[in-house]
Amino acid sequence: MSEATRHLAEYDSAERYRATIVSSERITPEASSEEVRELVLDVERPHFSFQLGQSVGVIVAGSEAFGKEHHFRLYSVADLLERGPSGMPRIKIAVRRCSYIDAYSGEEYPGVASNYLCDLVPGDSLLMTGPFGIVFEVPEEHDANLILIGSGTGIAPFRAFVKHIYRDVPDFRGRVWLFYGARSGLEMLYMNDEKNDFSQYYDDETFRAFKALSARPGWSDVIAWDSALQERGEELWAMLSDAKTYVYVAGLTKMLEELDAVFATIAGSKEEWHRRKAELMAGQRWVELVY
Ligand SMILES: Cc1cc2nc3c(=O)[nH]c(=O)nc-3n(C[C@H](O)[C@H](O)[C@H](O)COP(=O)(O)OP(=O)(O)OC[C@H]3O[C@@H](n4cnc5c(N)ncnc54)[C@H](O)[C@@H]3O)c2cc1C
Repeated sequence: MSEATRHLAEYDSAERYRATIVSSERITPEASSEEVRELVLDVERPHFSFQLGQSVGVIVAGSEAFGKEHHFRLYSVADLLERGPSGMPRIKIAVRRCSYIDAYSGEEYPGVASNYLCDLVPGDSLLMTGPFGIVFEVPEEHDANLILIGSGTGIAPFRAFVKHIYRDVPDFRGRVWLFYGARSGLEMLYMNDEKNDFSQYYDDETFRAFKALSARPGWSDVIAWDSALQERGEELWAMLSDAKTYVYVAGLTKMLEELDAVFATIAGSKEEWHRRKAELMAGQRWVELVY
């Protein structure tokens, strides 16, 4: 079972709480066929906190027709914790409206939780649990390099992470290289004409952001990691060979295979890449948040 469809019973969800929608804003341009919405939520749990990279659980009531089974889905926290006017913790999540093709009928159905969330309006209340999941730590060595690789909604945790580094860790001197993959420029969350959160760090000489787009977005081609990563292959390999480099990856599971193929070319062979990646993983310097 994929991480994205794990059941509620597999998580310690004893602590449930309600949250109220403060706002729901579409963050992909209208011209894009992808709808991603940023939801701002006031969490009715005064001591709520989370670590960077973690996700919150959303519990959606099931329908009578399917035995009322509750649906449980995770969403990465997409910004640093704030406080609303009432002092309650305020968080953001970025939700992509998903659908799936039924294996038997071949028909397309709306995904339960993402459609539920995307249809909520300010003032609506929802049931939540968590936070859960892996953490993207800021390395103890403040001259460490960070290679952040996100695709689609996988950019959400990096938005919070990059903001934290440049806002709260003033002596961080390492390089922060962000690679962001999407099918088209219209689907670049937080890096498009309307909402460009990362532009505030462009002036920082340690920060660089690189876009990886599909060659033919209409054809669902794979994201062009090769051009974005391979073009900087020599520098990347030098960074990856440095004992102080951390690689954090977030997005859909299929990106792992795509990345392995590109990094094998950069490393010179599959074997060399597998060896290096295994070392990075063993030292907890390669961390994956995939779904
Ligand atoms: C740790 C973790 C963090 C996650 N963070 C986010 C997040 O920040 N934002 C977010 O939108 N989703 C995120 N997800 C996915 C989310 O939990 C749900 O799986 C997703 O919203 C689909 O749920 P659904 O009930 O609407 O559709 P379902 O009926 O469960 O499935 C719909 C289909 O869409 C695919 N799918 C699921 N998520 C995505 C996606 N983001 N982009 C493209 N295809 C997808 C599924 O593989 C499935 O085929 C995360 C999952 C995990 C495990």
